[in-house]
Amino acid sequence: MPAVDPTLIERIVRDDVRAMGAYHVADSHGLVKLDAMENPYGLPDDLRRELAARLADVALNRYPVPSSAALRASLRSVMKVPEGMDVLLGNGSDELISILSLAAAKPGAKVLAPVPGFVMYAMSAQFAGLEFVGVPLRADFTLDREAMLAAMAEHQPAIVYLAYPNNPTGNLFDEADMEAIVRAARGPASRSLVVVDEAYQPFAQHSWMPRLPEFDNLLVMRTVSKLGLAGIRLGYLAGPPAWLEQFDKVRPPYNVNVLTEATALFVLEHADVLDAQAEQLRAERATVAAALAALPGVTVYPSAANFLLVRVPDAAKMFERLLARKVLIKNVSKMHALLANCLRVTVSTPQENAQFLEAFAASLQD
Ligand SMILES: *Cc1c(COP(=O)(O)O)cnc(C)c1O
Repeated sequence: MPAVDPTLIERIVRDDVRAMGAYHVADSHGLVKLDAMENPYGLPDDLRRELAARLADVALNRYPVPSSAALRASLRSVMKVPEGMDVLLGNGSDELISILSLAAAKPGAKVLAPVPGFVMYAMSAQFAGLEFVGVPLRADFTLDREAMLAAMAEHQPAIVYLAYPNNPTGNLFDEADMEAIVRAARGPASRSLVVVDEAYQPFAQHSWMPRLPEFDNLLVMRTVSKLGLAGIRLGYLAGPPAWLEQFDKVRPPYNVNVLTEATALFVLEHADVLDAQAEQLRAERATVAAALAALPGVTVYPSAANFLLVRVPDAAKMFERLLARKVLIKNVSKMHALLANCLRVTVSTPQENAQFLEAFAASLQD
């Protein structure tokens, strides 16, 4: 095989793409994995057996039913999507973000979000050729309402993302600040679509879903990833059909595969199981936060998610020392100046949390 000519790659692949690093996923083999906000609990054995039987009956030779009508109906009902609103399904909410970017990618169009925030808003904007405008949060990670409104008036973004709660800070933004942004986005200073990203909704117990009917420029995005189904890749975007009809044109027609659809339908019939797991994780979150806060030099930030943001004297050192003790967390301190010396840790089972806390306390003292 001839070597690939680098000048040919240069001719074909965009400069900004060649300049990028690959999305890095840490090797977690043999480690206590607390880096990716996964739910540590699987399905109970009886449900796993029932699911196996259900999956055995799936017609793998057939394309998915267009638009997954049954799954959409189940989500609308279980997730209490308001009357008159519909849902659009994505291969994870990552794909929904990418669909939104593609559909909005007019020349000169922009995407705006608070920073530090979820990195896919900026990456997906870049891939689609949109400019990303990041508006810094305040030092306590609350929304800077005035800065947001000023940036919206200046940049006239097509889309504004608000993660509720925010990742990686874990906090819920003030509802009145968010409402001011949604109202400002209806004009005349800026005319924008606002997407509230509720990836951590099971742990937050606050939602904008019930308020969808109040606004014509609001969508609520959710995922099943953080509530225990990260492996099946399913996200949904709820809102007025007039918006979803447009985005549906950009959606790859068979983006939700038959195994994902059958699994999600089955698990939604047993939503109480996932609700109970989320409740347990919320209780564990309080336990871990209190234990961390009691350690000298450690600041724990309020969290409405299944992770905690923690500031330590030296994040890089703590990350390495924890890794040496077989615990993998995420060092987010280089993501943004506001996150200096911050670590993000997923809340897990009582046993894994205890392992983490022991390793953390020992690492502080090394
Ligand atoms: C994890 C996460 C997502 C992505 O979820 P997937 O459905 O797994 O793609 C979206 N938004 C936020 C804020 C997240 O933390």
